[in-house]
Amino acid sequence: MKFDILTLFPELFRQVLSESIIGRAQENGLIQINPVNIRDFSKDKHRKVDDYPYGGGSGMVMMSQPIYDAYLSLTENLDYKPKLIYMSPQGRLLDQKLVEELKNEEHLILLCGHYEGIDERIIEDIVDMEVSIGDYVLTGGELPAMVLIDSVSRLVPGVLSGEESYSEESHYNGLLEYPQYTRPFEFNRKKVPDILVSGHHANIQKWRRQQSIKRTYFKRPDMIEGNKELEAELKKVLESEKL
Ligand code: SAM
Repeated sequence: MKFDILTLFPELFRQVLSESIIGRAQENGLIQINPVNIRDFSKDKHRKVDDYPYGGGSGMVMMSQPIYDAYLSLTENLDYKPKLIYMSPQGRLLDQKLVEELKNEEHLILLCGHYEGIDERIIEDIVDMEVSIGDYVLTGGELPAMVLIDSVSRLVPGVLSGEESYSEESHYNGLLEYPQYTRPFEFNRKKVPDILVSGHHANIQKWRRQQSIKRTYFKRPDMIEGNKELEAELKKVLESEKL
């Protein structure tokens, strides 16, 4: 899977995404991350990329021309149009469902805004989708783009060691993950639940499912509310604990 990124700060991506799992995925050729500096496409002699907003107001707006030319440099020789996502606080919220959808794309272009944002005509002409990482405003689209790349890349086959690495994780199946423990068996006078050292695989799976449902109910009741099957399962779990 390929991620091209249109940004004013390409070095940030090289620094942050070259480590650990995402770094290895790039080395193994499973994903490609290609930051492109929008400033390189400025036609201004001072390499300017922003200007005052028409109509007045504070801050600067990123100009269309350098963004458009940077976009053309990536796409003019392609016989398909990669999906172009503008990272924006006005976009669709990034959640696991959207991450799942995006992992099916072979090629994404992520556009990172800065200052007050970008000229609206760029959004109209080349942007396919706007994506937000939360209802707050950041100084630039670089951190959101990295969040998107990280969350989508780990679902690309081969990036994690096995499908089970994410299939039981929080949000994948609409629940939060069960509690995890590692050695030592006892820490601060607290022992690991006996069931986990019983060696009984089916009982361990059952316990984990119950824990998942319970903690989702306590931490994120909104994820259960309205889902008849989960509500029924939760009722059984809570009843069994009263016994
Ligand atoms: N003036 C814009 C508005 O009110 O919608 C906000 C501009 S923001 C200061 C600068 C850039 O940061 C945006 O163009 C966008 O690329 C990025 N950005 C800020 N918050 C974001 C968020 N929650 N999700 C995704 N991108 C965000």
